[in-house]
Amino acid sequence: MQDVKNRNPNQDEFVQAVGEVANDIYNWVQGRDDYHDAQILHRMTEPDRIVSFRVVWEDDDNNVRVQRGWRVQNNNAIGPYKGGLRFSPGVNESVLKFLAFEQTFKNSLTGLPLGGGKGGSDFDPKGKSDAEVMRFCQSFMTELCRHIGPSLDVPAGDIGVGAREIGYLFGQYKRITGRFEGVLTGKALAYGGSQMRPEATGFGAVYFLREMLKSDDQEIEGKTAILSGSGNVALYAARKLIDCKVKVLSLSDSDGVIEIKEGLDEKQLEWIQTLKFEKRGRISEAADEFDGITFHKGKTPWALEADIAMPCATQNELAADAAKALAGNGITHVLEGANMPTTADAMAVLREKGVAVAPAKAANAGGVAVSGLEMSQNAERMSWERAKLDDLLTEIMADIHHKCRKAGKGDDGSVDYRRGANIAGFEKVADAMLAYGVM
Ligand code: GLU
Repeated sequence: MQDVKNRNPNQDEFVQAVGEVANDIYNWVQGRDDYHDAQILHRMTEPDRIVSFRVVWEDDDNNVRVQRGWRVQNNNAIGPYKGGLRFSPGVNESVLKFLAFEQTFKNSLTGLPLGGGKGGSDFDPKGKSDAEVMRFCQSFMTELCRHIGPSLDVPAGDIGVGAREIGYLFGQYKRITGRFEGVLTGKALAYGGSQMRPEATGFGAVYFLREMLKSDDQEIEGKTAILSGSGNVALYAARKLIDCKVKVLSLSDSDGVIEIKEGLDEKQLEWIQTLKFEKRGRISEAADEFDGITFHKGKTPWALEADIAMPCATQNELAADAAKALAGNGITHVLEGANMPTTADAMAVLREKGVAVAPAKAANAGGVAVSGLEMSQNAERMSWERAKLDDLLTEIMADIHHKCRKAGKGDDGSVDYRRGANIAGFEKVADAMLAYGVM
Protein backbone atom coordinates (compact mmCIF):
# COMPACT_ATOMS: atom_id res chain seq x y z
CA MET A 1 0.00 0.00 0.00
CA GLN A 2 2.91 2.35 0.65
CA ASP A 3 3.96 1.87 -2.95
CA VAL A 4 0.41 2.56 -4.17
CA LYS A 5 0.35 5.75 -2.07
CA ASN A 6 3.71 6.90 -3.43
CA ARG A 7 2.75 6.25 -7.01
CA ASN A 8 -0.61 8.01 -6.71
CA PRO A 9 -0.03 11.18 -4.69
CA ASN A 10 -3.19 13.14 -3.81
CA GLN A 11 -5.43 10.37 -5.13
CA ASP A 12 -7.18 9.51 -1.88
CA GLU A 13 -10.26 7.86 -3.38
CA PHE A 14 -8.14 5.57 -5.53
CA VAL A 15 -5.84 4.63 -2.65
CA GLN A 16 -8.94 3.96 -0.48
CA ALA A 17 -10.47 1.62 -3.08
CA VAL A 18 -7.21 -0.30 -3.57
CA GLY A 19 -6.70 -0.50 0.21
CA GLU A 20 -10.09 -2.16 0.71
CA VAL A 21 -9.43 -4.84 -1.89
CA ALA A 22 -5.84 -5.43 -0.74
CA ASN A 23 -6.96 -5.75 2.87
CA ASP A 24 -9.74 -8.21 2.06
CA ILE A 25 -7.74 -10.50 -0.19
CA TYR A 26 -4.47 -10.39 1.81
CA ASN A 27 -4.90 -13.63 3.75
CA TRP A 28 -6.56 -15.43 0.89
CA VAL A 29 -3.69 -14.76 -1.56
CA GLN A 30 -1.02 -15.94 0.89
CA GLY A 31 -1.22 -19.46 -0.46
CA ARG A 32 -1.10 -18.36 -4.10
CA ASP A 33 2.54 -18.22 -5.18
CA ASP A 34 1.47 -17.98 -8.82
CA TYR A 35 -0.26 -14.63 -8.15
CA HIS A 36 2.74 -13.39 -6.16
CA ASP A 37 5.29 -14.42 -8.79
CA ALA A 38 3.29 -12.76 -11.55
CA GLN A 39 2.77 -9.59 -9.42
CA ILE A 40 -0.96 -9.76 -10.19
CA LEU A 41 -2.21 -7.36 -7.50
CA HIS A 42 0.53 -4.89 -8.27
CA ARG A 43 -0.35 -5.01 -11.98
CA MET A 44 -4.03 -4.54 -11.23
CA THR A 45 -3.35 -1.27 -9.40
CA GLU A 46 -1.96 0.30 -12.57
CA PRO A 47 -4.68 1.11 -15.15
CA ASP A 48 -4.04 -0.16 -18.69
CA ARG A 49 -4.24 3.47 -19.83
CA ILE A 50 -5.84 6.82 -19.06
CA VAL A 51 -6.88 9.18 -21.81
CA SER A 52 -7.28 12.79 -20.77
CA PHE A 53 -8.55 15.43 -23.17
CA ARG A 54 -9.79 19.00 -23.55
CA VAL A 55 -13.51 19.50 -24.15
CA VAL A 56 -14.43 22.93 -25.53
CA TRP A 57 -18.04 24.02 -25.92
CA GLU A 58 -20.07 27.22 -26.22
CA ASP A 59 -22.73 28.17 -23.67
CA ASP A 60 -26.03 29.86 -24.56
CA ASP A 61 -24.45 33.32 -24.20
CA ASN A 62 -21.73 32.39 -26.69
CA ASN A 63 -19.02 32.16 -24.05
CA VAL A 64 -16.36 29.59 -24.88
CA ARG A 65 -16.01 27.10 -21.99
CA VAL A 66 -13.20 24.63 -21.39
CA GLN A 67 -13.62 21.36 -19.50
CA ARG A 68 -11.50 18.28 -18.98
CA GLY A 69 -12.58 14.82 -20.09
CA TRP A 70 -11.14 11.39 -19.20
CA ARG A 71 -11.51 7.71 -19.97
CA VAL A 72 -9.77 5.33 -17.61
CA GLN A 73 -9.34 1.96 -19.33
CA ASN A 74 -8.50 -0.02 -16.26
CA ASN A 75 -8.41 -3.70 -17.18
CA ASN A 76 -9.67 -5.75 -20.15
CA ALA A 77 -8.51 -9.19 -19.03
CA ILE A 78 -12.01 -10.68 -19.14
CA GLY A 79 -13.79 -8.50 -21.73
CA PRO A 80 -13.96 -5.08 -23.37
CA TYR A 81 -13.58 -2.12 -20.99
CA LYS A 82 -17.02 -1.37 -19.56
CA GLY A 83 -18.25 1.27 -17.17
CA GLY A 84 -20.11 4.54 -16.97
CA LEU A 85 -19.37 8.19 -17.66
CA ARG A 86 -19.77 10.65 -14.80
CA PHE A 87 -20.36 14.38 -15.39
CA SER A 88 -19.98 16.28 -12.16
CA PRO A 89 -17.82 19.16 -10.91
CA GLY A 90 -16.25 16.78 -8.35
CA VAL A 91 -14.85 14.49 -11.04
CA ASN A 92 -11.06 14.19 -11.21
CA GLU A 93 -8.55 11.50 -12.12
CA SER A 94 -8.54 9.97 -8.63
CA VAL A 95 -12.33 9.56 -8.58
CA LEU A 96 -12.39 7.98 -12.04
CA LYS A 97 -9.47 5.68 -11.23
CA PHE A 98 -11.21 4.43 -8.09
CA LEU A 99 -14.44 3.91 -10.02
CA ALA A 100 -12.66 2.06 -12.86
CA PHE A 101 -10.81 -0.12 -10.34
CA GLU A 102 -14.04 -1.02 -8.51
CA GLN A 103 -15.83 -1.58 -11.81
CA THR A 104 -13.29 -4.24 -12.81
CA PHE A 105 -14.24 -6.47 -9.85
CA LYS A 106 -17.95 -5.63 -10.06
CA ASN A 107 -18.06 -6.61 -13.72
CA SER A 108 -16.20 -9.82 -12.95
CA LEU A 109 -18.81 -10.71 -10.30
CA THR A 110 -21.64 -10.47 -12.86
CA GLY A 111 -20.21 -13.54 -14.60
CA LEU A 112 -20.42 -11.70 -17.95
CA PRO A 113 -17.40 -11.03 -20.19
CA LEU A 114 -16.88 -7.39 -19.19
CA GLY A 115 -13.61 -5.59 -18.40
CA GLY A 116 -13.48 -2.46 -16.27
CA GLY A 117 -13.35 1.22 -17.17
CA LYS A 118 -14.82 4.58 -16.23
CA GLY A 119 -14.81 8.07 -17.64
CA GLY A 120 -16.34 11.46 -17.44
CA SER A 121 -15.77 15.14 -17.03
CA ASP A 122 -15.81 17.98 -14.52
CA PHE A 123 -18.74 19.44 -16.52
CA ASP A 124 -21.82 20.12 -14.36
CA PRO A 125 -25.08 19.45 -16.22
CA LYS A 126 -27.03 21.04 -13.32
CA GLY A 127 -28.63 24.31 -14.40
CA LYS A 128 -27.55 23.92 -18.05
CA SER A 129 -30.04 24.13 -20.91
CA ASP A 130 -30.67 21.08 -23.12
CA ALA A 131 -28.82 22.85 -25.94
CA GLU A 132 -25.77 23.41 -23.73
CA VAL A 133 -25.75 19.78 -22.61
CA MET A 134 -26.04 18.72 -26.25
CA ARG A 135 -23.11 20.86 -27.36
CA PHE A 136 -20.99 19.61 -24.48
CA CYS A 137 -21.83 15.94 -25.20
CA GLN A 138 -21.06 16.38 -28.90
CA SER A 139 -17.70 17.93 -28.14
CA PHE A 140 -16.90 15.23 -25.54
CA MET A 141 -17.75 12.41 -27.97
CA THR A 142 -15.78 14.01 -30.81
CA GLU A 143 -12.64 13.08 -28.88
CA LEU A 144 -13.89 9.98 -27.03
CA CYS A 145 -15.08 8.21 -30.21
CA ARG A 146 -11.52 7.36 -31.27
CA HIS A 147 -10.94 5.40 -28.05
CA ILE A 148 -14.12 3.30 -27.83
CA GLY A 149 -15.91 0.57 -29.79
CA PRO A 150 -18.27 -2.39 -29.25
CA SER A 151 -15.37 -4.85 -28.72
CA LEU A 152 -12.99 -2.27 -27.26
CA ASP A 153 -14.67 -0.05 -24.68
CA VAL A 154 -18.39 0.45 -24.07
CA PRO A 155 -19.30 3.43 -21.83
CA ALA A 156 -22.69 4.00 -20.20
CA GLY A 157 -24.26 6.47 -17.77
CA ASP A 158 -23.44 7.32 -14.16
CA ILE A 159 -23.99 10.45 -12.04
CA GLY A 160 -24.95 13.35 -14.37
CA VAL A 161 -25.23 11.10 -17.41
CA GLY A 162 -28.73 9.76 -18.05
CA ALA A 163 -30.95 9.06 -21.05
CA ARG A 164 -30.65 12.61 -22.42
CA GLU A 165 -26.83 12.63 -22.37
CA ILE A 166 -26.57 9.08 -23.76
CA GLY A 167 -28.80 10.16 -26.68
CA TYR A 168 -26.57 13.11 -27.56
CA LEU A 169 -23.40 11.02 -27.14
CA PHE A 170 -24.65 8.10 -29.26
CA GLY A 171 -25.93 10.46 -31.97
CA GLN A 172 -22.52 12.12 -32.24
CA TYR A 173 -20.67 8.76 -32.33
CA LYS A 174 -22.94 7.62 -35.15
CA ARG A 175 -22.50 10.91 -37.01
CA ILE A 176 -18.69 10.83 -36.85
CA THR A 177 -18.08 7.13 -37.50
CA GLY A 178 -21.10 6.41 -39.69
CA ARG A 179 -21.61 3.21 -37.71
CA PHE A 180 -24.74 2.17 -35.85
CA GLU A 181 -23.34 -0.26 -33.29
CA GLY A 182 -23.52 -1.13 -29.60
CA VAL A 183 -20.87 1.31 -28.45
CA LEU A 184 -22.83 2.71 -25.50
CA THR A 185 -25.36 1.15 -23.15
CA GLY A 186 -28.23 2.80 -21.34
CA LYS A 187 -29.66 3.80 -24.72
CA ALA A 188 -33.37 4.50 -25.14
CA LEU A 189 -35.53 1.69 -26.53
CA ALA A 190 -36.01 3.58 -29.83
CA TYR A 191 -32.35 3.13 -30.83
CA GLY A 192 -31.13 -0.16 -29.40
CA GLY A 193 -31.57 0.21 -25.66
CA SER A 194 -32.61 -2.64 -23.40
CA GLN A 195 -35.78 -3.16 -21.43
CA MET A 196 -35.06 -3.06 -17.68
CA ARG A 197 -31.80 -1.09 -18.01
CA PRO A 198 -33.09 2.05 -16.21
CA GLU A 199 -34.49 -0.08 -13.37
CA ALA A 200 -31.62 -2.58 -13.22
CA THR A 201 -29.32 -1.06 -10.58
CA GLY A 202 -32.06 -0.26 -8.05
CA PHE A 203 -34.06 -3.46 -8.67
CA GLY A 204 -30.87 -5.55 -8.58
CA ALA A 205 -29.88 -4.11 -5.19
CA VAL A 206 -33.26 -5.10 -3.75
CA TYR A 207 -32.96 -8.61 -5.27
CA PHE A 208 -29.59 -8.87 -3.51
CA LEU A 209 -31.15 -7.72 -0.23
CA ARG A 210 -33.90 -10.32 -0.62
CA GLU A 211 -31.24 -13.03 -0.98
CA MET A 212 -29.35 -11.78 2.08
CA LEU A 213 -32.47 -11.82 4.19
CA LYS A 214 -33.51 -15.22 2.87
CA SER A 215 -30.20 -16.74 3.90
CA ASP A 216 -30.77 -15.36 7.42
CA ASP A 217 -34.31 -16.86 7.40
CA GLN A 218 -35.89 -13.43 7.29
CA GLU A 219 -38.73 -12.03 5.15
CA ILE A 220 -38.31 -8.75 3.31
CA GLU A 221 -41.99 -7.88 3.71
CA GLY A 222 -42.71 -5.51 6.59
CA LYS A 223 -39.17 -4.10 6.89
CA THR A 224 -38.40 -0.38 6.93
CA ALA A 225 -35.65 1.31 4.92
CA ILE A 226 -33.84 4.64 4.80
CA LEU A 227 -32.39 5.66 1.44
CA SER A 228 -30.14 8.51 0.40
CA GLY A 229 -30.09 9.92 -3.11
CA SER A 230 -32.91 10.52 -5.56
CA GLY A 231 -31.35 9.54 -8.87
CA ASN A 232 -31.81 6.48 -10.96
CA VAL A 233 -30.50 4.04 -8.31
CA ALA A 234 -32.46 5.37 -5.31
CA LEU A 235 -35.78 5.84 -7.12
CA TYR A 236 -35.85 2.40 -8.73
CA ALA A 237 -34.69 0.79 -5.48
CA ALA A 238 -37.58 2.60 -3.78
CA ARG A 239 -40.00 1.29 -6.41
CA LYS A 240 -38.92 -2.33 -5.88
CA LEU A 241 -38.92 -1.93 -2.09
CA ILE A 242 -42.51 -0.68 -2.25
CA ASP A 243 -43.39 -3.72 -4.45
CA CYS A 244 -41.84 -5.92 -1.74
CA LYS A 245 -43.92 -4.16 0.96
CA VAL A 246 -40.96 -2.41 2.55
CA LYS A 247 -41.61 1.07 3.98
CA VAL A 248 -39.30 3.66 2.39
CA LEU A 249 -38.75 6.40 4.98
CA SER A 250 -36.38 8.80 3.23
CA LEU A 251 -34.78 10.09 0.03
CA SER A 252 -32.28 12.93 -0.34
CA ASP A 253 -30.27 15.18 -2.62
CA SER A 254 -27.37 17.56 -2.05
CA ASP A 255 -29.76 20.11 -0.43
CA GLY A 256 -31.04 17.78 2.31
CA VAL A 257 -33.31 14.85 3.13
CA ILE A 258 -37.05 14.22 2.93
CA GLU A 259 -38.60 12.13 5.69
CA ILE A 260 -41.74 10.17 4.86
CA LYS A 261 -43.13 9.01 8.22
CA GLU A 262 -45.78 6.62 6.87
CA GLY A 263 -43.57 5.35 4.07
CA LEU A 264 -43.44 6.50 0.46
CA ASP A 265 -46.49 5.57 -1.63
CA GLU A 266 -46.77 4.89 -5.38
CA LYS A 267 -48.29 8.28 -6.15
CA GLN A 268 -45.57 10.19 -4.31
CA LEU A 269 -42.85 8.12 -5.97
CA GLU A 270 -44.24 8.74 -9.46
CA TRP A 271 -44.41 12.46 -8.73
CA ILE A 272 -40.78 12.47 -7.52
CA GLN A 273 -39.68 10.51 -10.60
CA THR A 274 -41.18 13.17 -12.86
CA LEU A 275 -39.63 15.90 -10.68
CA LYS A 276 -36.16 14.36 -10.84
CA PHE A 277 -36.01 12.72 -14.29
CA GLU A 278 -38.00 15.24 -16.34
CA LYS A 279 -38.15 18.57 -14.52
CA ARG A 280 -34.69 18.21 -12.95
CA GLY A 281 -36.08 19.73 -9.73
CA ARG A 282 -34.95 19.55 -6.08
CA ILE A 283 -36.14 16.93 -3.54
CA SER A 284 -37.41 19.67 -1.15
CA GLU A 285 -40.24 20.32 -3.62
CA ALA A 286 -41.80 16.97 -2.62
CA ALA A 287 -42.35 18.34 0.90
CA ASP A 288 -44.19 21.35 -0.54
CA GLU A 289 -46.43 19.03 -2.57
CA PHE A 290 -47.31 16.30 0.00
CA ASP A 291 -48.52 16.62 3.61
CA GLY A 292 -46.84 13.44 4.87
CA ILE A 293 -43.37 14.54 3.72
CA THR A 294 -41.00 16.77 5.72
CA PHE A 295 -37.79 18.32 4.39
CA HIS A 296 -34.70 18.66 6.62
CA LYS A 297 -32.26 21.07 4.99
CA GLY A 298 -28.59 20.08 5.05
CA LYS A 299 -29.33 16.73 6.76
CA THR A 300 -28.70 13.10 5.80
CA PRO A 301 -31.05 10.14 6.51
CA TRP A 302 -28.65 8.30 8.82
CA ALA A 303 -30.19 9.45 12.12
CA LEU A 304 -33.56 7.86 11.30
CA GLU A 305 -34.63 4.53 12.77
CA ALA A 306 -35.14 1.61 10.38
CA ASP A 307 -34.09 -1.97 9.58
CA ILE A 308 -32.21 -1.31 6.34
CA ALA A 309 -30.02 1.56 5.10
CA MET A 310 -29.27 2.10 1.43
CA PRO A 311 -26.74 4.83 0.61
CA CYS A 312 -27.50 5.51 -3.07
CA ALA A 313 -26.00 8.99 -3.59
CA THR A 314 -22.22 9.09 -3.96
CA GLN A 315 -18.82 8.01 -2.60
CA ASN A 316 -17.92 8.54 1.07
CA GLU A 317 -21.39 9.85 1.99
CA LEU A 318 -21.61 7.61 5.07
CA ALA A 319 -18.94 8.43 7.66
CA ALA A 320 -18.07 6.84 11.03
CA ASP A 321 -20.51 8.97 13.11
CA ALA A 322 -23.35 8.05 10.79
CA ALA A 323 -22.34 4.39 11.01
CA LYS A 324 -22.50 4.56 14.81
CA ALA A 325 -25.95 6.16 14.59
CA LEU A 326 -27.13 3.45 12.20
CA ALA A 327 -25.95 0.65 14.46
CA GLY A 328 -27.53 2.35 17.47
CA ASN A 329 -30.83 2.80 15.64
CA GLY A 330 -31.38 -0.87 14.90
CA ILE A 331 -30.12 -1.05 11.31
CA THR A 332 -29.27 -4.69 10.56
CA HIS A 333 -28.35 -4.42 6.84
CA VAL A 334 -26.55 -1.77 4.80
CA LEU A 335 -26.73 -2.02 1.00
CA GLU A 336 -24.39 0.15 -0.99
CA GLY A 337 -26.38 1.42 -3.97
CA ALA A 338 -23.78 4.09 -4.81
CA ASN A 339 -20.12 3.26 -5.49
CA MET A 340 -18.01 3.21 -2.28
CA PRO A 341 -20.53 5.30 -0.27
CA THR A 342 -19.13 4.06 3.07
CA THR A 343 -15.82 5.50 4.33
CA ALA A 344 -13.16 3.09 5.56
CA ASP A 345 -13.78 4.20 9.18
CA ALA A 346 -17.53 3.76 8.84
CA MET A 347 -17.01 0.29 7.38
CA ALA A 348 -14.89 -0.63 10.41
CA VAL A 349 -17.68 0.55 12.75
CA LEU A 350 -20.32 -1.46 10.90
CA ARG A 351 -18.14 -4.57 10.93
CA GLU A 352 -17.48 -4.23 14.64
CA LYS A 353 -21.18 -3.77 15.43
CA GLY A 354 -22.14 -6.81 13.38
CA VAL A 355 -24.18 -4.93 10.76
CA ALA A 356 -24.31 -6.92 7.49
CA VAL A 357 -22.96 -4.83 4.60
CA ALA A 358 -23.61 -5.60 0.94
CA PRO A 359 -20.70 -3.85 -0.82
CA ALA A 360 -21.31 -1.75 -3.91
CA LYS A 361 -19.50 -4.05 -6.29
CA ALA A 362 -22.04 -6.75 -5.47
CA ALA A 363 -25.17 -4.81 -4.49
CA ASN A 364 -25.20 -2.37 -7.42
CA ALA A 365 -23.89 -4.75 -10.09
CA GLY A 366 -27.37 -5.17 -11.59
CA GLY A 367 -26.94 -2.03 -13.68
CA VAL A 368 -23.82 -3.09 -15.48
CA ALA A 369 -25.16 -6.65 -15.73
CA VAL A 370 -28.14 -5.47 -17.78
CA SER A 371 -25.71 -3.27 -19.75
CA GLY A 372 -23.90 -6.51 -20.59
CA LEU A 373 -27.23 -7.96 -21.74
CA GLU A 374 -27.83 -4.81 -23.81
CA MET A 375 -24.49 -5.50 -25.55
CA SER A 376 -25.61 -9.08 -26.28
CA GLN A 377 -28.90 -7.85 -27.76
CA ASN A 378 -27.10 -5.27 -29.91
CA ALA A 379 -24.60 -7.88 -31.12
CA GLU A 380 -27.38 -10.20 -32.28
CA ARG A 381 -29.53 -7.26 -33.48
CA MET A 382 -32.45 -8.39 -31.38
CA SER A 383 -34.34 -7.06 -28.39
CA TRP A 384 -35.48 -9.28 -25.59
CA GLU A 385 -38.68 -9.08 -23.59
CA ARG A 386 -38.85 -7.38 -20.24
CA ALA A 387 -39.80 -10.55 -18.35
CA LYS A 388 -36.78 -12.41 -19.74
CA LEU A 389 -34.45 -9.58 -18.68
CA ASP A 390 -35.99 -9.38 -15.23
CA ASP A 391 -35.50 -13.15 -14.81
CA LEU A 392 -31.87 -12.88 -15.95
CA LEU A 393 -31.24 -9.97 -13.57
CA THR A 394 -32.78 -11.93 -10.69
CA GLU A 395 -30.58 -14.93 -11.50
CA ILE A 396 -27.42 -12.83 -11.82
CA MET A 397 -28.01 -11.10 -8.47
CA ALA A 398 -28.69 -14.46 -6.76
CA ASP A 399 -25.50 -15.84 -8.29
CA ILE A 400 -23.45 -12.83 -7.09
CA HIS A 401 -24.95 -13.26 -3.63
CA HIS A 402 -23.99 -16.95 -3.66
CA LYS A 403 -20.39 -16.16 -4.74
CA CYS A 404 -19.99 -13.49 -2.03
CA ARG A 405 -21.32 -15.78 0.69
CA LYS A 406 -19.14 -18.68 -0.38
CA ALA A 407 -15.93 -16.65 -0.58
CA GLY A 408 -16.81 -14.50 2.44
CA LYS A 409 -17.53 -17.26 4.94
CA GLY A 410 -15.25 -17.12 7.97
CA ASP A 411 -14.03 -20.09 10.04
CA ASP A 412 -16.72 -19.30 12.64
CA GLY A 413 -19.46 -19.49 9.99
CA SER A 414 -20.05 -15.71 9.86
CA VAL A 415 -20.22 -14.05 6.44
CA ASP A 416 -18.27 -10.95 5.41
CA TYR A 417 -19.90 -9.96 2.12
CA ARG A 418 -17.29 -7.34 1.29
CA ARG A 419 -14.46 -9.77 1.68
CA GLY A 420 -16.37 -12.34 -0.35
CA ALA A 421 -17.07 -9.87 -3.17
CA ASN A 422 -13.43 -8.80 -3.33
CA ILE A 423 -12.08 -12.35 -3.39
CA ALA A 424 -14.60 -13.68 -5.92
CA GLY A 425 -14.27 -10.61 -8.18
CA PHE A 426 -10.47 -10.70 -8.02
CA GLU A 427 -10.01 -14.41 -8.73
CA LYS A 428 -11.51 -14.45 -12.23
CA VAL A 429 -9.60 -11.37 -13.40
CA ALA A 430 -6.37 -12.68 -11.85
CA ASP A 431 -6.70 -16.09 -13.53
CA ALA A 432 -7.25 -14.47 -16.93
CA MET A 433 -4.18 -12.27 -16.40
CA LEU A 434 -2.08 -15.29 -15.43
CA ALA A 435 -3.11 -17.05 -18.63
CA TYR A 436 -1.78 -14.17 -20.77
CA GLY A 437 1.73 -14.27 -19.32
CA VAL A 438 3.79 -11.21 -18.53
CA MET A 439 2.26 -8.07 -20.00
N1 GLU B 1 -22.32 3.44 -13.84
C1 GLU B 1 -22.86 2.15 -13.54
C2 GLU B 1 -21.99 1.45 -12.53
O1 GLU B 1 -21.38 2.09 -11.68
C3 GLU B 1 -23.17 1.34 -14.78
C4 GLU B 1 -22.03 1.07 -15.70
C5 GLU B 1 -22.43 0.41 -17.02
O2 GLU B 1 -23.59 0.07 -17.21
O3 GLU B 1 -21.52 0.22 -17.83
O4 GLU B 1 -21.89 0.26 -12.48
